[in-house]
Amino acid sequence: MKNLNLIGAKWEPAACGKTIDVMNPATGEKITAVPDSQTEDIDRAVRAARASFEAGSWRKADPSHKERVLWRIAELIDKHEDELCELESRENGKTVREARSADVRPSADALRYYAGWVRRPHGETVPVDGPYLNYTLREPVGVAGQIVPWNYPILIACWKLAPALACGCSIVLKPSELTPLTALRVGELCLEAGVPEGVVNVVTGYGPTAGEALGRHMDVDKISFTGSIRTARALLRASSESNLKRISLELGGKNPNIIFADADLDSAVDEAFSGIFANKGEVCSAGSRLLLDAKIHDEFVERLVAKSKKMKVGDPLDPTTEMGSQISQAQLDRILGYIKSGVEEKAKLECGGERDCSGSNARGFFVKPTVFSGVQPPMKIAQEEIFGPVLSVIRFSGEQQAVDIANGTIYGLVSAVWTRDIGRAHWMAERIKAGSVWINTYNGFDSASPFGGYKQSGFGRDLGGYALDQYTQVKSVWIALKS
Ligand code: NAD
Repeated sequence: MKNLNLIGAKWEPAACGKTIDVMNPATGEKITAVPDSQTEDIDRAVRAARASFEAGSWRKADPSHKERVLWRIAELIDKHEDELCELESRENGKTVREARSADVRPSADALRYYAGWVRRPHGETVPVDGPYLNYTLREPVGVAGQIVPWNYPILIACWKLAPALACGCSIVLKPSELTPLTALRVGELCLEAGVPEGVVNVVTGYGPTAGEALGRHMDVDKISFTGSIRTARALLRASSESNLKRISLELGGKNPNIIFADADLDSAVDEAFSGIFANKGEVCSAGSRLLLDAKIHDEFVERLVAKSKKMKVGDPLDPTTEMGSQISQAQLDRILGYIKSGVEEKAKLECGGERDCSGSNARGFFVKPTVFSGVQPPMKIAQEEIFGPVLSVIRFSGEQQAVDIANGTIYGLVSAVWTRDIGRAHWMAERIKAGSVWINTYNGFDSASPFGGYKQSGFGRDLGGYALDQYTQVKSVWIALKS
């Protein structure tokens, strides 16, 4: 595998020669190093993308050809599934089991799904006054910059690459400095599948240098971003101070998982557990606020805590491990800081609450699954995204109070409601301000269903036909007819 920037069809180091070490967070070992790219490298990648876009090597290719190429990328991901799962697990610290089911397989699925959209972004004829034929063309937006985070590195890259390719865009992808390896490998597989040179460029580097350069570039038409609110603000500023490039943002969440007393409690306990502890809680859609109906509160907490205490935390490559290592020392410190604040604000620590240093876990950044009960909505651990295996349990009585608590943060990414009362389910779904509402399930994802946020969880949608809005623009064509 190549640990260099993919620019055009070439693999290149950063012009300055500097590199960034890529570490395995579960062991503290260095895996490899990748380019520490700067403005100059981003410039070269954007030039390559622009040249391919204007030449039309991909944009103007036959739709049936594009479909086959997208499908072929998916097949290559399938073919290299084991390698990609291990790589994802090693650079991120997630279990290899989760890398397979939640990253690599859905990545291939996204490419197959968008192969089916290649012929779909089409225009329409519009009935207008006067002797005119008016029709619209739906055209690719141009050069798309894609900036992705470290929690689902290959998946979020493919969620963005696949629709951009389906629309005929050329791309500069900047993965997180912490997890650049699977994105580079996908770039390589794109070339192997027949994506023309310059259409997919992958440039590694830090946010404030490489990311900022992409955000400020005068020849990038669009930025699709997944990550933190802080970076989203920087990108909006960069756009406003450069060429007003279009921006779409998938940001964080403090997602309410609401359980009513009439719910199927066995399923609700299982999904509340995986809703917070999957991917070690480093999930924008984590069910990090568990809202429990007062009638079942104590029993529910008891069952959930018993399950959490038994969770197997450790070596991500061991197929029996249930939770791996947090991504970094900084993330570990951040999580432990939130746990401290929960204790200080007098929430009740039911389990966990500390770093897991048992055996070889001492080498990594492992945290014990943590549950707080007695959490009040204004507390920090009920308002801020922790991005770790820390659950805040809040008691409620009645639908209105549940909705008020659910909507009482700056976020609005996802939510869930557990009840057997169908009227209540719809009543809640209408009132919760979030991009997804799951009823009697958690973490429902499919390439065909849109994903994105309300409020400060962002705007624009990944996935489904909605993602095409990110990568196309509409042209209105007028033809005067003889009267
Ligand atoms: P981050 O914002 O720090 O980094 C995300 C990406 O942005 C990285 O590639 C980083 O290098 C780059 N970046 C950082 N500063 C930049 C700048 N000034 N200009 C341009 N690019 C810059 O976020 P993170 O720590 O990698 O990821 C965690 C965050 O992502 C969490 O807040 C989480 O909620 C969010 N997230 C959201 C979703 C979603 O779909 N809504 C999915 C995953 C993660």
